[in-house]
Amino acid sequence: MKNKKILIVVDVQVDFCEGGALAVSGSGGLIPELNKFISFCEKSNIQIIFTKDWHPVNHHSFKSQIGKWPPHCIQNSVGAELHPDLYVPKNAFILTKGESVHADGYSAFENKALIDTMGLDKAVKVYVCGLALDYCVKATAIDAIRHDFSRTYIILDLCRAISIDNKSTLSLLKQEKVAIATSSDLMSD
Ligand SMILES: [Zn+2]
Repeated sequence: MKNKKILIVVDVQVDFCEGGALAVSGSGGLIPELNKFISFCEKSNIQIIFTKDWHPVNHHSFKSQIGKWPPHCIQNSVGAELHPDLYVPKNAFILTKGESVHADGYSAFENKALIDTMGLDKAVKVYVCGLALDYCVKATAIDAIRHDFSRTYIILDLCRAISIDNKSTLSLLKQEKVAIATSSDLMSD
């Protein structure tokens, strides 16, 4: 099974998409491209995991709690749902993160169920994409490396960032040994 692959689609939720409470610019154009890749992964029997930011109303990251962000992805709200245009295959796993007041929830590995879902085989290739590149995508990819998934890739064209300039994000990812790829590279891999 040395060619096993796992796709992690991070936080493509209503609140992070255009019109949402913490919209990441360019997210509208992202979904059709993501859907193509998700369909490719489904056909190729690549395991697919979706994450959802999933906060209590008094989450510490909210400005109302002297945090950094406007309230977003509040548990059971419409804003916390995966975007309705996103293609979610029936057998995909959906995991939540940032569920307690003081859990940042940037990395999907904060939810211990992620490791169980991914399995013990560290030789798998792990593809990470979604929103936002400079926060949850970055944190999840770096954590994958720290959990010994040494073949972890960011799919750069399938991410959108909050920062306008991605230079520091990309150099940090490289420093952490996360590979940077494009969806077309991976579809021909
Ligand atoms: Zn959040």
